[in-house]
Amino acid sequence: MATRTVDHLLVGGGLAAASCARTLREEGAGGSIVVVGREPDPPYDRPPLSKGYLRGEGSREEALVLGESWWEANDVELLTRTSAMKLDVDARTVKLSTKDELSFATALVATGANVRRLRAEGSDLEGIHYLRAFGNADAIRSDLAEAERVVLIGGSYIGCEVAASVVAGFGLQCTILMQEEVTLERGFGREIGGFFQGVLTEHGVQVVGGDELERFEGSGERVQRVVTKGGAVLDCDCVVIGAGVTPDVMLARSAGLELGESGGILCSPGLESSAPGVYAAGDVCEWQSAQLGGSVRVEHWDVALEQGRTAARNMLGQSVSHEAVPYFFSDLADWVSMEAVGRGAGEPVIRGSLDDGDFTAFYTAGDRVTAALSVGRPGDLHHARRWIAEGGAPNAATLADEDAELDGA
Ligand code: FAD
Repeated sequence: MATRTVDHLLVGGGLAAASCARTLREEGAGGSIVVVGREPDPPYDRPPLSKGYLRGEGSREEALVLGESWWEANDVELLTRTSAMKLDVDARTVKLSTKDELSFATALVATGANVRRLRAEGSDLEGIHYLRAFGNADAIRSDLAEAERVVLIGGSYIGCEVAASVVAGFGLQCTILMQEEVTLERGFGREIGGFFQGVLTEHGVQVVGGDELERFEGSGERVQRVVTKGGAVLDCDCVVIGAGVTPDVMLARSAGLELGESGGILCSPGLESSAPGVYAAGDVCEWQSAQLGGSVRVEHWDVALEQGRTAARNMLGQSVSHEAVPYFFSDLADWVSMEAVGRGAGEPVIRGSLDDGDFTAFYTAGDRVTAALSVGRPGDLHHARRWIAEGGAPNAATLADEDAELDGA
């Protein structure tokens, strides 16, 4: 077994690891950096997988986080198709699937998340997909080219975005099956979820809410029907399941890193895990955030990007807390797009008009704004970001009043 020493070991070939590698160099790290990723591709952005890339509107290269030449130009070693098998945080070594062993000075664990798999009769039929990686998107796209009817299981953003892509990009019949009464209800509340559901149904997407998967049926090897617990029978020749994700803590758990309530790697405000010098970032990271009121884990593209940056600075000894307000974006084809900041739940205060598709929903707790979602009003989000970061906000009547100035409020 070959053993060599690196200064910075980054495990996970996703956005958080790529962002960390880039920031290390930008911040002047002169030592060696190795990124270990299990997938065949260099780190890429996953949002296009349910949007443009799925519809055939963007290439693999366009989705890469860093250009192919970046790695060599910046002297960062990228090991694709390579898994970190065993992390020893006391000995400060990692064993790789290549049988190599690396010893490191500082490390980042950015192993992301795995899709939550549904167990049901018929799950092994052909034509049933999950969506996390390029390979999944390619397989779905190739099935869609032959399909007539598609069922999406799950009413969160993956189900909604894929439904929009299926209709806008392929012109297919499409049904969303979900436990919620209304799409996106869990993240944004019933009224706002209802707005997005309205957009979907206006474009022909059928929605079956308050129900769930009982079993899949097929003829031969291919899926033909989804049967629900409520007794509905949904004909289909392709199924995409978006039932959430769980943090991938296999490596972290076996290394003895402390885990948090959400199941992610429990980290300090500076994203350091329970092992000194070992950091976490992205979907796998549960960090203590004074700003967001406790220990939180957020599965957003922007959070992975920003946490990669924070972790890099701390790997270089800068002692910074992760304070960026979480930002989220999503779109339903070119029908509507949304942006959100912070973390909130429940029914919001609405400024603007849902009927006109021009509004911001402010989520509040006591006298604080905790989150905001906007369709077409980036200026409102700018204010919300400030209130979330600094505390304080106008009262509900001012938030809802279109004539009331938010500048300086
Ligand atoms: P990941 O991107 O999951 O990367 C982790 C990597 O680590 C994976 O490649 C994994 O294989 C690898 N790995 C795991 N264990 C090991 C190991 N032991 N050794 C080596 N490698 C390992 N967010 C938004 O904000 N807006 C959106 O519109 C949006 N759309 C999305 C659409 C889709 C289809 C998906 C799947 C996600 C979307 N997201 C969106 C979420 C966003 O993409 C994630 O939050 C982000 O990818 C998290 O980055 P990460 O680096 O933490 O994890």
